[in-house]
Amino acid sequence: MTSFFRPGIDALVGYKPGEQPKPGQLIIKLNTNENPYSPSPQAIAALSNLAPEALRRYPDPYATPFRQAVSDVLDVPPNWVLVGNGSDDILNIIIRACAESGRPVVYPSPTYVLYRTLSQLQLAETVEIPYGPEFQLPLDAMIAAQGAVTFIATPNSPSGHRVPIEDLRQLATQLEGLLVIDEAYADFAEDTAVALAQEFDNVVISRTLSKGYGLAGLRLGFAIANPALLAGLYKVRDSYSVDAVAIAVGAAALRDQVYKDDCIAKVKRDRQLLAQALKDLHFQVWPSETNFLLTQPKGGDAEALYLGLKQQNILVRYFKQPGLDDKLRITVGTPEQNEALIAALKTLT
Ligand SMILES: *Cc1c(COP(=O)(O)O)cnc(C)c1O
Repeated sequence: MTSFFRPGIDALVGYKPGEQPKPGQLIIKLNTNENPYSPSPQAIAALSNLAPEALRRYPDPYATPFRQAVSDVLDVPPNWVLVGNGSDDILNIIIRACAESGRPVVYPSPTYVLYRTLSQLQLAETVEIPYGPEFQLPLDAMIAAQGAVTFIATPNSPSGHRVPIEDLRQLATQLEGLLVIDEAYADFAEDTAVALAQEFDNVVISRTLSKGYGLAGLRLGFAIANPALLAGLYKVRDSYSVDAVAIAVGAAALRDQVYKDDCIAKVKRDRQLLAQALKDLHFQVWPSETNFLLTQPKGGDAEALYLGLKQQNILVRYFKQPGLDDKLRITVGTPEQNEALIAALKTLT
C-alpha cells in the first residue's frame, strides 16, 4: 500500500510514553517520575478562582504572570524566559529551530529517549556517545562531535546522576552549537546550571513543573536563555501553546516555594530510605539527585521483577535495551507506596 507519510515518518519508531493505568484501576505508579504529592494548595486555589473570561479569550502568548514568577524565584529577567507546553515542547522547539540533515544532534547515552525521536522527525543525524561506567561524561568525544545541538539531561534519566557544572562549562566554552541543559529534575538536585545561561550565549536551560511541582497533567515547562537566542525560538513556537489555566496555576505553584520545598524534602528523605531498603535486598543502587532510583537486582532478572510487580499492581519502568535491560527505574513514592514496593519485592526475590 502506498504511504501517506514522509519516508522519515514511516521509518520512525515513535516515542513510547510510560504505561498509564486504566481509569479506576488501583495501582501504585512508580514508572514515570511524577511527584507523589499534590500540587500546592495555592495552585489549586488559582484553578478554582480562574475567571470564565480567561477561558473565553486567547491566552497571553508571553505568559507574563508566569514569566514574572520565574523571574522572581530564579533571579533571571522575565525576557530571558520562554514558556512551552511541558518541557517536551521546549525540546521540540529547539530541535525544529536548530537541527536538520547536516546539522546533527549530540547527546550522551543512556538518556531521555525523546531527544532521538525529535531529531529523527527533523531528519537530523543523532550522535549518541556512551557514558562511562560510573556515568562520567564523555567530554572529549562530545566536543569532537560538534553538534548543532548538544543535549545534556542533568540530573540525568534513567541514571539519576548530576553532571558536574565544570563539565558543562567546558562544553559551553568549546561547542560552537547550542548546549541544551535539560534540568527536568533540578528541583531534587544539589546544584543547578541556571547561571551558565547568563554566562554563555549558546546555553539554554530547560525546566518543567511536571516533576518538582507535581503538575505533570498541567503541561508547563520553560526555557531560560538570552533574549537574542529566545528570539529565534519564538519564530518556531506556537503562540498559544500554553493555555490560560497553565499560566495562572503555574504562576501560583511557582510562587509557593515553601510548599514545594516541603514536598521535595520529603521525597529526598524517602529516596534515601528506599535506596537503603533496596540495598538491604542486595540490589545495586546508583546515587540519585532526582525523584527516582536506578537499581539493578541481584541476579539481574529485571524484566521478571518488572512483570511480577505489575501483577501486584505496582508499575516501575523497565527499558528493554542494552545496558539497561538488567535494571529498573523506580520513582520515589509516598512512604506507604515505597513500603508496598519493598514488601512486593521481598515476595519476588
Ligand atoms: C520528564 C522529563 C521531561 C519532560 O517533562 P515535561 O515538562 O512533562 O514535558 C524532559 N526531560 C527529562 C529528562 C524528563 O525526565
